[in-house]
Amino acid sequence: MTVQSVGVVGAGQMGNGIAHVFALAGYDVLLNDIAQTSLDKALASIDRNIERQVSRGKVTADEKAAALSRIRTTLKLADLGATDLIIEAATERETVKQAIFEDLLPHLKPHTILTSNTSSISITRLASRTDRPEKFMGFHFMNPVPVMQLVELIRGIATDQETWDTLHDVVRKLGKTAASAEDFPAFIVNRILMPMINEAVYTLYEGVGSVKSIDESLKLGANHPMGPLELADFIGLDTCLAIMNVLHDGLADTKYRPCPLLTKYVEAGWLGRKTQRGFYDYRGEVPLPTR
Ligand code: NAD
Repeated sequence: MTVQSVGVVGAGQMGNGIAHVFALAGYDVLLNDIAQTSLDKALASIDRNIERQVSRGKVTADEKAAALSRIRTTLKLADLGATDLIIEAATERETVKQAIFEDLLPHLKPHTILTSNTSSISITRLASRTDRPEKFMGFHFMNPVPVMQLVELIRGIATDQETWDTLHDVVRKLGKTAASAEDFPAFIVNRILMPMINEAVYTLYEGVGSVKSIDESLKLGANHPMGPLELADFIGLDTCLAIMNVLHDGLADTKYRPCPLLTKYVEAGWLGRKTQRGFYDYRGEVPLPTR
């Protein structure tokens, strides 16, 4: 099957990055959100981020103009029914995602492939509530999407080979690399990454180190490009907590229990960079540790 048009649900940090890379690769993109402000912010970010690629000589001004002209936005989810491939990238909450797929179903073309960019939620369970579990897959992009090379392709129990092959081909056309993962909680990347981030929060919670010493230790001592707390702020602490809860519930092992301090930051609405405060405070000139 050939994909020409793509519908992206959710215009947050991931949705805008996904729209960006698909438009640059020549796909027509229809971007949806429940908030007009999110759509406006997404278009501004895409413009700014492609401009950065232009200034580095990676993209020409003509390619930028063509890519921007391929992106349209809508507040009406039903409009996405006309596209060949839907990528759901809304908030990491199962009820939100289920409601989106349920609302989309009556408007879809028979061949439309449904995917979710979820970091952790069961693809098989999301698929089972649609009319096309064989055309449903996990399509997990990494943050920031224009920079990160990997895309995880997650096969639900019912996903057919044609759907997998189609998405594999799409990943190739985006110039990215696919990794195949089976549908178990948090797949590959987050199954390994999130327990490390959660352990860093425990290390802070138990007073073993400060925000600064924990991040510096992993950067200088393990050669990580970002410290785990800095990375958690970048991902979003609500998303990190949601993924830990999925691991904890799905694998029923106490080693995945979310750190109470992570829960506390989320309760405070300190979700990281997107709310300007998390393990660091981003409101000033330089990020300052909050503990
Ligand atoms: P975000 O909070 O930046 O954006 C979520 C967007 O979804 C918001 O703009 C919100 O208005 C919108 N939204 C909420 N309900 C909606 C609905 N019913 N219909 C349409 N839009 C709706 O979150 P994000 O970081 O972009 O994460 C989105 C998804 O991508 C999550 O499933 C997350 O697990 C996954 N993901 C995140 C990362 C990361 O590093 N942040 C990496 C890979 C995958």
